[in-house]
Amino acid sequence: MQAMMMNQPLSIIEILRYAAGAHPGAGIVSARTEGDIHRETYAEAYARAGQLAHAMARLGVKLGDRVATLAWNGYRHFELYYAISGMGAVCHTINPRLSAEQMLYIIDHADDQVLFFDVTFTPILEALKDKLPSGMKLVAMTDAAHMPDSTLDLLCYEDLIADESADFDWPELPEDTAAGLCYTSGTTGNPKGALFSHRSTVLHAFSISIALSKSLTEGGRILPVVPLFHVNAWGLPYSAPMTGASLVMPGPNLDGPSLFDLMDAEKVTSAWGVPTVWLGLRAEIDKRGRNPEGFSQVVVGGSAAPRSMIEGFEKSGVEVCHAWGMTEMSPVGTQGLLSESMKDLPFEAQMDLKSKQGRRVFGVELKIVDDNGNRLPHDGKAVGELFVRGNTIVSGYFNNPEATAAAIDAEGWFGTGDVASIDEQGFLTIQDRSKDLIKSGGEWISSIDLENIAMAHPKVANCAVIAIAHPKWDERPLLVVVPAGDEKPELSEIHDMMLQHVAKWQLPDDMVFVDSLPLTATGKISKLTLRQQFTDYVLP
Ligand code: ADP
Repeated sequence: MQAMMMNQPLSIIEILRYAAGAHPGAGIVSARTEGDIHRETYAEAYARAGQLAHAMARLGVKLGDRVATLAWNGYRHFELYYAISGMGAVCHTINPRLSAEQMLYIIDHADDQVLFFDVTFTPILEALKDKLPSGMKLVAMTDAAHMPDSTLDLLCYEDLIADESADFDWPELPEDTAAGLCYTSGTTGNPKGALFSHRSTVLHAFSISIALSKSLTEGGRILPVVPLFHVNAWGLPYSAPMTGASLVMPGPNLDGPSLFDLMDAEKVTSAWGVPTVWLGLRAEIDKRGRNPEGFSQVVVGGSAAPRSMIEGFEKSGVEVCHAWGMTEMSPVGTQGLLSESMKDLPFEAQMDLKSKQGRRVFGVELKIVDDNGNRLPHDGKAVGELFVRGNTIVSGYFNNPEATAAAIDAEGWFGTGDVASIDEQGFLTIQDRSKDLIKSGGEWISSIDLENIAMAHPKVANCAVIAIAHPKWDERPLLVVVPAGDEKPELSEIHDMMLQHVAKWQLPDDMVFVDSLPLTATGKISKLTLRQQFTDYVLP
């Protein structure tokens, strides 16, 4: 029997329209590229999004056109998110850390019509000048006084919107209309585009608002260190206005002292980002001997959060939520908060659970399968490839049938490329990305496990474990360490620590020291680059 309920399409601009009316005190604080702090309410952002939509229409942007952004976390970027999707175009966020070649590939693949950019990225555009599509309009996200000195033909954001009306007649769009486009960083082959819809974006905002309600709450002040150019800053630009939380946008300065000062001054309650960023903040917290005022929750994801980092935050009274997801999942798939009964467990047992990647959020289903595609039990022991299904997960890649065919299985599930186990309580443990696992004598060694243990050594500031080719065992683990100070750790000390958790045959064969680890465009340790760097390394 057909139900008798209204059926209004889920719409991104509705989120901001709602926040403008329902949460008048909340808004966006931005550390601007101009060097100052800027504040606007969601109502002001909504009005400016209307002006911006008029301006883009004047530039010729039509339904379905792709409009690109190359920008830090800030209020203008936020306005673009809403104006572009709201008018029925597609917001294509470009990661500025991509190589020139990859950037050109995705601009061309997406067929971007207009590109909005923060002035700090002017040199990138200057370098690409002759290779950008002809006719592409370039808009500098600043005011007339701060326009960059450039040979490029540039428009100015504030001039562009200044005379426009804030009243824009937002079209009513079918909810599966494309709204956002984000390319994965393409560690293998060309980047692949995840094309989000209004529906998937709004549903994702609902699901993370429920799962992370301590952060996403009226009066909350959230610092997205995760960039707006990387999977929509994990959905925060949508879920924060939806719940009445404010956003504190850090701009380009993401070092520990800058983050600490901004969080302290703006009384940030919750901060979201990849583990590498929190290494800097943790060091600053230790140095100053206190947390930034009001800081109570940190959401860590994008790569495995080392247990030592989780313990460090928790001991200083900051609750850690270890989350897992990927671009293709909008991105959040699981979150690692403990249920009430688990909070009575001894500290060590709680940390065991928090080191896992957490339980699925509503709307995301998980399955692990063996090499033949057979489902494996959720018993905490069976390890297999992780597949996901749900309304916030891609059904394929934008204009890429080959990659789509490779990613979706016969039952319509998406293959994550991660190797994982799931325990009886539903906690997911990511063992590795399948290409980062170390295959030794037909058995697998998890690089994440070894890194986690090594990170707890006081003389280790950061580390990675990679596979080195071995004539007898196929591959063996090499531990690459950034020392914390002048005194370097001995491999035997690290082995002793590891032996408490892993078998002897899984220990790294050797350890090398480096000044820093290479990072990917999304700020994660680039194992690919490391493997290339040590490709001729001969193990003892
Ligand atoms: P990119 O490929 O651009 O780095 P993603 O950010 O989408 O893009 O990366 C998703 C991958 O990051 C996941 O498939 C997984 O391997 C890894 N990942 C994300 N969160 C975690 C986590 N909490 N622990 C371990 N790995 C993670």
